[in-house]
Amino acid sequence: MFARVEPLTTTRRLAGPFDYALPDAPVEVGSVVRVPFGRQALDGVVVALAATTEVPAEKLVTPTAVRADSVPPELVALALWMSDEYCSTPARALSLVLPPKGKPRTELWAARSGAALDGERLTDNQRALLGTLPRAAGGDLGALRRLEGRGLVTIAPRTRRRAPLTVPHADRAVDLTGEQEAAVAAVARGGAHLLHGVTGSGKTEVYLRAAEAALARGEGVIVLVPEIALTPQTVGRFQARFGDTVALLHSALGEGERYDEWRRLRTGEARIAVGPRSAVFAPVRDLGLIVVDEEHDASYKHEGDPRYDARRVAAWRVRAGDPAARPDAEHRDRSLLAGTATPRPETWHALPRLTLSERVGSRPLPPVRVLDMRGARHPLHPDTRRALTAARKAILLLNRRGWSNFLTCRTCGKVWECPQCDVALVLHRAEHAIACHHCGHRERIPERCDACGSPSVARYGAGTERLEAELAAALDVPVFRLDADTAGAKDAVPALLARFAAAPAGLLIGTQMVAKGHDFPDVTLGVVVDADSTLRFPDFRAEERTFALIAQLAGRAGRGPQGGHVLVQTTAPDAPAIVAAARHDARGFVTGELERRRALAYPPFADLIRIVCSSPAAAAPRAAAGQIAEAAASARSATVLGPAPLFRLRGRYRSQVVVKAHDRAAAIAAVRAAVDRAANDRAHRDVAFSVDVDPQ
Ligand code: ADP
Ligand code: ZN
Ligand code: ZN
Repeated sequence: MFARVEPLTTTRRLAGPFDYALPDAPVEVGSVVRVPFGRQALDGVVVALAATTEVPAEKLVTPTAVRADSVPPELVALALWMSDEYCSTPARALSLVLPPKGKPRTELWAARSGAALDGERLTDNQRALLGTLPRAAGGDLGALRRLEGRGLVTIAPRTRRRAPLTVPHADRAVDLTGEQEAAVAAVARGGAHLLHGVTGSGKTEVYLRAAEAALARGEGVIVLVPEIALTPQTVGRFQARFGDTVALLHSALGEGERYDEWRRLRTGEARIAVGPRSAVFAPVRDLGLIVVDEEHDASYKHEGDPRYDARRVAAWRVRAGDPAARPDAEHRDRSLLAGTATPRPETWHALPRLTLSERVGSRPLPPVRVLDMRGARHPLHPDTRRALTAARKAILLLNRRGWSNFLTCRTCGKVWECPQCDVALVLHRAEHAIACHHCGHRERIPERCDACGSPSVARYGAGTERLEAELAAALDVPVFRLDADTAGAKDAVPALLARFAAAPAGLLIGTQMVAKGHDFPDVTLGVVVDADSTLRFPDFRAEERTFALIAQLAGRAGRGPQGGHVLVQTTAPDAPAIVAAARHDARGFVTGELERRRALAYPPFADLIRIVCSSPAAAAPRAAAGQIAEAAASARSATVLGPAPLFRLRGRYRSQVVVKAHDRAAAIAAVRAAVDRAANDRAHRDVAFSVDVDPQ
């Protein structure tokens, strides 16, 4: 037998896999091996075992080491699929499913052997020591070894879990409503479902019961959440209900914690993996159910290569669990449960729907008033000011951080722009800087115009920092700001949310982060400032995003017995997304949006693939993009848009091509071939290529 190994290199040029002789240590599909490769040594993953090889015997080499932890074969197959599906490479895709680096932490565990102590001559100290067992030997190892020698104590190594910090959360048993019962029963039958229910309608309770049922059948569960820091409540409820059988996988874990959680899942000690998008690669045993909470959330899309979508990957894993795809056909179909108050048009179109039609306890959704801001001078409408003054606890969303959006010279008209990117620099007053939100470039706040010398520099627009300052001065409640600038430190977000939750009165102001799944029952007012800011994006998802943002923010208000209301400021009061969000009408919005998408041949009625060519040289990207556009146009039933210029980013000029495909597989194959050809063409050697299938 021979091992087919995919070496883990970053270059696109090496096309594996390569054959190796079998080492002495046992290897199987998913083994991580160290292999000689040319003059270097690389890690690689065994992707297949083969009976024959074309490599001549004298050239065949043997792996030098085999790692103790291996990748489950299902995840090897998943990575190879991702590599194709996202026009990436096997190595890059495999690196997402690798076991984390590390090894178990062991300690020496001492226990009484069971031998009777009668007649043993023991000092008081020894008796006291025996009384403390069982426990880790620690500093008493010497004394314990002597007792071990007398047969009174056993000492053995044992792994000690490095457990992540948990967020304790109260859990209570409830009787399911009829709709919840029906949803849990449907999930148990297998296949994929959308769980649509407004915030507070009991979706999380359905996830918990579906997970309980899966465990009872002997199956494992993956629960995907947008961001642990922003959704500690969901995680806390899973931990409260299932205890140590929950493994937490997220980016803030220490190396040892991450390793231990991964291994607990791999060995089957832990049965439920909870985490953000990368938890979709969790090595859960006998996977039976994947839950995607807040399925509309943009964080499920990965922005590095491969640009995978965790929702699509989850669907693949559920299908791979199909009895036809698995040899052990005893198993039932796996289940996928995607839940949200604001479903994506794609999900609505594709999945059978389970509905929770009202909030638990029939608490009404808060009324939403749209405030027309056309012609307004000040960022806050007078009614918003009045409402903020009257409210004890409120949340305000402004999807723009910083003090003001841009600076311009009143005399010559100069606009301060990033030297690396073609975008305006944003004023951050607390940091005494103007900053680029794309590349992080910073410079000092100008006192005068460096082009004409004028001291008259105007600041336009208002961001979260400025509104925070204004409202802190105007209101007599504490103001908390939550945006990428205040979220910096590791535990800053949970700490800030906890302070706001505990405060008897206060205003939480911030970017879209404030609209995530928080549950503050005493918030009675929600405000969206500049609701059309997302609508102005030149993107077919602008409507979908705007609807979700407003509806989600509205879901934060009025969750408690005092009720609440929501104000939405906009210069586009008649935009369908805003009108529908004000009515809490997800069904109306999605059906209208699907009609529009059908007419324009946008997803789900076509698949999009975006290719971005970039280079420090101005003309290079356009030439490469032109070649790709031409090649992609030959794919069956594909429409090619572009090349179109994009703004310069991090010093790189960019040009993009978008392919609208009606035959997904054919279009992906054509794009992959076109990009490979362009990447290997010496004419484009300064150009970098990025392929995004299903761009967000
Ligand atoms: P969602 O996930 O849709 O926001 P949750 O599952 O968090 O909703 O439910 C909202 C609140 O209602 C929670 O406090 C939950 O404990 C409670 N709840 C859920 N289902 C029921 C039920 N069947 N009976 C009583 N209370 C329930
Ligand atoms: Zn000037
Ligand atoms: Zn920049």
